[in-house]
Amino acid sequence: MTQALASPEARFAIDAVREAALLVRRVQQEMVGSGLTKDDKSPVTVADFAAQALVAKRLADRFPDAALMGEETAVALRTESGRETLEQITHFVRMAVPDATPEAICDWIDRGVGERRANTWTLDPVDGTKGFLRREQYAVALALINDGVVNVGVLGCPDLVDAALPSPGGRGSLIAAVRGEGTWLQPLEDVSGDWVRLRVSDVSDAKHARLLRSVEKAHTDVGGIDSLVATLNVEAKPVLMDSQAKYVVLAAGGGDVLLRLISPKRPEYKEMVWDQAAGSLVIQEAGGRITDLDGKPLDFRQGRTLAANRGILATNGLLHEAALAGLRAIKA
Ligand code: AMP
Ligand code: MG
Repeated sequence: MTQALASPEARFAIDAVREAALLVRRVQQEMVGSGLTKDDKSPVTVADFAAQALVAKRLADRFPDAALMGEETAVALRTESGRETLEQITHFVRMAVPDATPEAICDWIDRGVGERRANTWTLDPVDGTKGFLRREQYAVALALINDGVVNVGVLGCPDLVDAALPSPGGRGSLIAAVRGEGTWLQPLEDVSGDWVRLRVSDVSDAKHARLLRSVEKAHTDVGGIDSLVATLNVEAKPVLMDSQAKYVVLAAGGGDVLLRLISPKRPEYKEMVWDQAAGSLVIQEAGGRITDLDGKPLDFRQGRTLAANRGILATNGLLHEAALAGLRAIKA
């Protein structure tokens, strides 16, 4: 373990994310089969709940007073119609916690609905659920926020190799960022592997920028991104990737500009904290910059959403002002 990641909080987050990411991968291997229809959401549901239960349980054991903001609640699992799903979740959680009961699992999951406090962990148990179902990119995202400042951010990306290359079923990537201590990468499957420090690219000419955006058109403004590409004379086509895996690619220098433009169908949409907290620190500690589309710093004091911000722009830093100018020009 590098000294940079030696704090109790960082060590906890690294262990918890690794364990949860490997469990999520197990769910995918066992449940996302050729027999499923495209709309079958059950593997995502099981993976989401199982990962949140596991991280919440580990957090309660390690830091009993800590608050957790997670994406899921167990309300539906406690009803009769949720019983079968809860049984499947229990099957997977028992791989990590052999004596877990369905009742305890519901209680662990519900630790994630805790009210906002000065010190809060945020968790997206499966970020990029569509990518998970397509067997493309997804991530387990855990972060620690103290008084609105993200101090630890860890991402587990089971289908990303060396922080940049999509590789379903490969060794995966674990990425840990600690404020002031850098962003580091280790193979997900290799607990004793070396930690490698990540750094953003040095591309400074917008013409040569490699853009990153969501695969899901509904999560962004594809027309707006096309206009930005034209305005900045960007030569390469944007790279499409699900989840905070694209924040890792930016941090590792495999992309230069990451865009979350506002979908015209959801103009009121506000980013969720667990979708941005870990990824934002991963980018900043690799030397990059992240703001909203107006250049405002992300405000993590608002509770479950980034209510004071509008969309996301992240870059290697060198391209940030040019990208903001382009966004103003297209009125994004
Ligand atoms: P991505 O894989 O980058 O598209 O990001 C996935 C995340 O997008 C999910 O975790 C959702 O919370 C979030 N999301 C859902 N709807 C929207 C929307 N209309 N605009 C932006 N993000 C969204
Ligand atoms: Mg998410």
